[in-house]
Amino acid sequence: MTNETWGLVREELIKRVGKNNYVTWIEPLKLSQLRNGVARFEVPTIFFGDWVQRNYADHIRSQLASAGTPVDRVEFAVGTADLPKPPKSPAKAQRSRPADEELPGAPLDARFTFDSFVVGKPNELAHAAARRVAEGGPVTFNPLFLYGGVGLGKTHLMHAIAHELSTRRPELRVLYLSAEQFMYRFVQALRERQVMDFKELFRSVDVLMVDDVQFIAGKDSTQEEFFHTFNALVDQNKQIVISADRAPGEIKDLEERIKSRLQCGLVVDLHPTDYELRLGILQQKVDYYRAQYRGLVIADGVLEFLAHRITTNVRVLEGALTRLFAFASLVGREITLDLAQDCLADILRSSDRKLTIEEIQRKVAEHYNIRLSDMIGPKRLRTIARPRQVAMYLAKQLTPRSLPEIGRRFGGRDHTTIMHGVRKIEELMATDSQLNDDLQLLRRLLQG
Ligand code: ADP
Ligand code: MG
Repeated sequence: MTNETWGLVREELIKRVGKNNYVTWIEPLKLSQLRNGVARFEVPTIFFGDWVQRNYADHIRSQLASAGTPVDRVEFAVGTADLPKPPKSPAKAQRSRPADEELPGAPLDARFTFDSFVVGKPNELAHAAARRVAEGGPVTFNPLFLYGGVGLGKTHLMHAIAHELSTRRPELRVLYLSAEQFMYRFVQALRERQVMDFKELFRSVDVLMVDDVQFIAGKDSTQEEFFHTFNALVDQNKQIVISADRAPGEIKDLEERIKSRLQCGLVVDLHPTDYELRLGILQQKVDYYRAQYRGLVIADGVLEFLAHRITTNVRVLEGALTRLFAFASLVGREITLDLAQDCLADILRSSDRKLTIEEIQRKVAEHYNIRLSDMIGPKRLRTIARPRQVAMYLAKQLTPRSLPEIGRRFGGRDHTTIMHGVRKIEELMATDSQLNDDLQLLRRLLQG
């Protein structure tokens, strides 16, 4: 393939990944080699390569294939490629800062407002805390730490805070960005020797919101910088809002001092959705779609069916509804249960995925750092027996298997042993908050 073909492929990629992602991640790639089914690109940093590999390698591969250059693998090696130029240098912005200067945050989704956020039991605390922050009054807890599984509304709530603040307190400088963007800007500042400007900029905001902070785990210099930024803002009594996919204490490779700082404020959990919340969300979206696809009829029971069957996350639920409306309007039919079952067969099937006892044992063993073989083995040491009981408990809770069946999967143990294990955990749950946290996390990992 020539660089010209790569040029064409890149044009296709703009459409696929969007202009912003393209400029940040694809444009800087330099094709350096194409041989033996491997396309190799030069990238500016190791992190950059990892990120592109994880997020865009499949797109690149499929576009290469459509351009008549199929490859088995795309590789990224640190080379002469440059980091993309920022659209506007934060440094310059800082030096001559007009009152309404734009902060280098991520764009906000206009749909993610408090009005469009459906409140239910699983998210009521998170919602109330976010509302409080959005009032823009004196800081009462710092930071607000929101955590929960994928698609449960963390980003939605953060954007809602930003929207609300921009109407209530337009004078406040509110900066929302992902932890990844934070890191990216920091690396860029290092490279361009503008670290002082970076520091000044981040210390000049009134409200800082960093999404998906688990991302900086293991990235040492970024963690360090984050920690200092965080402390500086807290010292000035500026509000900070953080989100992550798990509780501060559960984030691996995050420095202890950061964990403990993150725990200092209010830590709130977005629980997995329940049926009522899912139905509420569907009803709200349907009102919205009705206006868009006028005349479309949705039969009784369809929403209830979806709320029952699609329990993974809200994003999937929304996707299902979007597809259903698009399809029904295309073929001009009423949305019935049959239509829903046909049109959403794949989503319904994957939602149905049965959790196995094996998977539970593996995740629990991983979590407690013991061997998988110890799950079924005979060891009675507390450090092994307790995780084993946790796995028994979860197997009982999360699968339809009977006690004897579970016993067989735990190395042929008797059903009374399983029952004892389950009871033991139930008993401990009443007093042991660490155990409760463990269970919550494991549940989420298993059901996510
Ligand atoms: P997260 O950041 O936790 O992964 P998002 O905030 O991106 O999840 O939410 C995923 C999608 O689900 C978004 O489109 C969001 O608007 C929607 N969503 C999640 N929770 C709710 C809710 N309670 N009410 C309305 N929409 C929701
Ligand atoms: Mg998010």
